[in-house]
Amino acid sequence: MCLFCKIVEKNIPANIELENDDFVAFHDINPKAPIHILAIPKKHVDSFNEVSAETMSGMTTFIQELTKKLGIDKSGYRVITNVGENGGQEVKHLHWHVIGGSKLRWDHLADADPKDFF
Ligand code: 5GP
Ligand code: ZN
Repeated sequence: MCLFCKIVEKNIPANIELENDDFVAFHDINPKAPIHILAIPKKHVDSFNEVSAETMSGMTTFIQELTKKLGIDKSGYRVITNVGENGGQEVKHLHWHVIGGSKLRWDHLADADPKDFF
């Protein structure tokens, strides 16, 4: 069972912000901004490559509800999913980073120098 499936099953503790039958949102253990939540489908999906349109539909509504609950829907935020090796995906269970609570810079998230791209 993967790490996030264990969080879904409550075998590993997490600070849960919002939950329904199909999705759960919990605080990232290593936040990159004042608010950094991971929103995941309870059913295991490896990454965005495999997710169904049906799951994405529910995911969208869930993340909208989450940002309202957090009070960042008006001030703004970012929603990011990393895919695979080049995307920097460490946990192989689809998760959406919902990041906000302050004015975000790109270097909140970047760790590369453009001169290293080629
Ligand atoms: P990725 O790099 O796969 O897009 O993001 C994985 C995220 O999961 C990272 O931001 C990391 O801090 C977070 N993370 C890893 N292990 C745990 C954990 O056990 N609990 C929580 N709440 N977050 C975790
Ligand atoms: Zn999983």
